[in-house]
Amino acid sequence: MKIHEYQAKALFWEWGIPVPRGGVAATPEEARGIAEGLAGPVVVKAQIHAGGRGKGGGVKAAATPEKAYEAARQILGMQLITHQTGPEGKRVSRVLVEAASVIDRELYLSLLVDRSRGKECVVFLASEAGGMEIEQVAGESPEKIVRCAVHPAVGFSPFQARKLAVGLGLSAAQRDPFAEILRNLYRLFLEKDGSLLEINPLAVTRAGDFLALDAKLTFDDDGLYRHPEILALHDPAEEELLEVLAGDASVNYIKLAGNVGCMVNGAGLAMTTMDLIKMAGGEPANFLDVGGSASPERIEKAFRIIAADPNVRCILINIFGGVLRCDRVSAGLIQAATHSSMDLPMVVRLQGTHRDEGRRMLEASGLRFTVADGLYEAAEKAVALLGG
Ligand code: GDP
Ligand code: MN
Repeated sequence: MKIHEYQAKALFWEWGIPVPRGGVAATPEEARGIAEGLAGPVVVKAQIHAGGRGKGGGVKAAATPEKAYEAARQILGMQLITHQTGPEGKRVSRVLVEAASVIDRELYLSLLVDRSRGKECVVFLASEAGGMEIEQVAGESPEKIVRCAVHPAVGFSPFQARKLAVGLGLSAAQRDPFAEILRNLYRLFLEKDGSLLEINPLAVTRAGDFLALDAKLTFDDDGLYRHPEILALHDPAEEELLEVLAGDASVNYIKLAGNVGCMVNGAGLAMTTMDLIKMAGGEPANFLDVGGSASPERIEKAFRIIAADPNVRCILINIFGGVLRCDRVSAGLIQAATHSSMDLPMVVRLQGTHRDEGRRMLEASGLRFTVADGLYEAAEKAVALLGG
């Protein structure tokens, strides 16, 4: 789960990581009020879950409260497009107004979980090329990136802080405050089950102090149950609407770019089905696992979520009936098709418990569907339907 910059900065503040003073505003009047309180030049920043806001016109400097009002008026309500939002952009409903800083250097700092075999630990990445995308730095001048893996049993050590400080060319006087920031970031990351934390840029002010000017923080979804205060920061407006609906229906759904909708039980079978669709020359529109004990109601919800994607031109239903019986799947599909006026063609592959009963129900329903027995046969039939 991602959170907004202003929420991440509030956490930073709480954990002793220096951030600019500021506040969040939903209207230009509120933005002006915050700027008045800060009594000096400010920066007005769009709050969306995507980077590249600066280049996209979502970050504006304002010398006076009146200019902050004007900047907020321009940014609020805009459909901000950055390289991370996709072509449709994201609607801005809040801005962060914070004291502008006089920056001497811009550094890059992040923490992530390295899952590769034999590593499996938290890693610090730092670079003197802050303000730039780290992917670009990695491509053009990888020698500018300093890495430091933290052994989970040993924890973050002072020598690692020194290594990173030297790699960034920090002065002797800056090393202790820098080490303090690293220690606090590591504690925050571990305590709250972070999966990615990025500060780009970590500014060095003219006075030589550090200040996190940007903050991106992502949490491990599987750890959220331990942190209700983090879960409370969830912003459903930032997510794919269909994925939110799927979450409510307890269905594992990930929207993809293709046009063959998939309904499958079991994550492994769902992945295999997607592979087979691609092998047959099609593109899956989604990953969807209805789970092992789905009721007809849940099948109906899953079906509606798939059909609500405007790109979907046919649906492949691949169910291996075990605990989830084929007749209950058919009941759900019939329920869904009669409750909605959906008339997309379907390919149905039912195998396992109560298969014959499931098929009979579908045949008697008058729905538009094609039966398949084999896995690959089902994928081929679905792709063939796209041509017709
Ligand atoms: P992003 O483009 O979404 O990553 O948003 P950032 O928070 O990184 O802001 C974009 C750029 O605005 C940063 O790289 C900084 O160069 C600049 N910026 C942000 N805050 C300040 C500030 O307080 N003072 C100055 N001078 N520049 C700032
Ligand atoms: Mn940034």
